[in-house]
Amino acid sequence: MKLPYAEPWKIKMVEPIRSSTYEERLKWLEAAKYNMFQLRADQVYIDLITDSGTGAMSDRQWAGMMLGDESYAGASSFYMMEEAVRRITGFKYVLPTHQGRAAENVLFSCLIKEGDVCPGNSHFDTTKGHIESRKAIALDCTIDEARDTQLEIPFKGNVDLHKLDEALSLYKDRIPFVIITITNNTAGGQPVSMENLREARKIANKYNKPVLLDSARFAENAYFIKTREKGYSDKSIKEICLEMFSYADAMTMSAKKDAIVNMGGFIATNIKDWYEAAKVKGIAFEGFTTYGGMNGRDMNALAIGLDENTEFENLESRIKQVQYLGNKLDEYGIPYQRPAGGHAIFVDASKILTHVPKEQFPAQTLTVELYLEAGIRGCEIGYILADRDPITRENRFDGLDLLRLAIPRRVYTNNHMDVVAAALKNIFDRRSSITRGMKIVKEAELLRHFTVELERVE
Ligand SMILES: *Cc1c(COP(=O)(O)O)cnc(C)c1O
Repeated sequence: MKLPYAEPWKIKMVEPIRSSTYEERLKWLEAAKYNMFQLRADQVYIDLITDSGTGAMSDRQWAGMMLGDESYAGASSFYMMEEAVRRITGFKYVLPTHQGRAAENVLFSCLIKEGDVCPGNSHFDTTKGHIESRKAIALDCTIDEARDTQLEIPFKGNVDLHKLDEALSLYKDRIPFVIITITNNTAGGQPVSMENLREARKIANKYNKPVLLDSARFAENAYFIKTREKGYSDKSIKEICLEMFSYADAMTMSAKKDAIVNMGGFIATNIKDWYEAAKVKGIAFEGFTTYGGMNGRDMNALAIGLDENTEFENLESRIKQVQYLGNKLDEYGIPYQRPAGGHAIFVDASKILTHVPKEQFPAQTLTVELYLEAGIRGCEIGYILADRDPITRENRFDGLDLLRLAIPRRVYTNNHMDVVAAALKNIFDRRSSITRGMKIVKEAELLRHFTVELERVE
């Protein structure tokens, strides 16, 4: 009999979590204005709000923490991180930042001006925020297939090359760079193929435009290339990573994802001018060039984490756990963005809460139901997250409306996944009785989902 896969690690330290009663959860959620970000973490049983910064570090990473060099300038920890980033990505210039959005802030401060257009596959919310706050446009050129949650194709995060070419020929001088997000978080943690990266590069070259990779989950993307794309099954993850980055001029990185640290990020590039400009902004916003908002110990952990998480076994156990949850939902007939993503399952709320009108935010309603049902905290990736159109100020109802269950790396067991699936099944079974959604009471102009205040519709 073929042996099943198992995690390539065992557990050395545990952290207690606590379940709660329905009455407790209702009281807490009302106090939090039905916003998951406003709950206290100890009011949550299984926390799937994000996989960002919530992973479990290895014993080697913790050992690295003890060896952190906290020197203000020239810390050995910086050089250790720089060496790992150079070796794994092939980029020459490395600038630490305290997290991914800080990398965006620093780099975009140098590159984006009012009226610019930044085409690519779906932009992540902070990326979109940093583009739109500079009065520029984040132009989504993702393939149309990504919008059909039930369609199963291997690289659903791809850039639509035709749309990209059109955007480049239309906006020409207004385009500072093409930005591709790997994996495509917003489209459901869906990967981008090597072929697509290669072809997007060719199109960018035709118009003499640089390519930037938003790389938070680049190692998971490499796993999908290895396991799904012809010609890559015999290549190592690290070889695949080098090829992916060879089609880009720069990357921004949230190390809280695929480097499995609790805080950290960086910019890496081969363009000296970008590096020189980013250095100046980085010093002003983040800190000196050899720490950029990070502790020395955290740079050590980042370097070790990058190395560990660009190994096949580590990625396989992580992604198979996400697929395990997906398979459970299949058993119960619960629709989600197919196939299962690299870091999360995106439940298709619009196909479940069909009696809740879109103006009442079905995905947020489902998120609320899941918390009340079992103390499980997911995250709305839907109409609230989409913010209002910066010009018309209308709600944007044209995208997908999903409940994201993001799985932290090396944190929960498949038993936890069973609880999540069962809780969703209970809601699914009574879905026709859920007819009232949520309404917004108070919201911020940008990135409103973090602070929005909601009420149940009467
Ligand atoms: C998380 C993320 C970011 C932002 O990174 P932070 O570390 O949260 O600031 C940017 N892009 C993508 C694709 C992400 O997933």
